[in-house]
Amino acid sequence: MKKIPFPLPVCDQPATGRIEIYTPDPAGDAFGSLDASVYACDAHEPDVIAAAWAADMTAYRIEMAPGVDRTCSEVYVYRTGNLGGGQ
Ligand SMILES: [Zn+2]
Repeated sequence: MKKIPFPLPVCDQPATGRIEIYTPDPAGDAFGSLDASVYACDAHEPDVIAAAWAADMTAYRIEMAPGVDRTCSEVYVYRTGNLGGGQ
């Protein structure tokens, strides 16, 4: 499984949001492949989003699901995405 191709914050604060990271597909759909989710605190959400865009990926912030407890900079890579090592 590959790592996410942009720098992440070094932070141990509780995450306040989940940022979905997509790879655009060749046809031009910015949300071509859902590759990963990055959890971030209030202070670092803009950094994560900016880093993703700088790496030519699409970042989309969504609210944390109720009862989900994550730390800022935690990453979940989807096995089905481009970073997950194929189908
Ligand atoms: Zn943080």
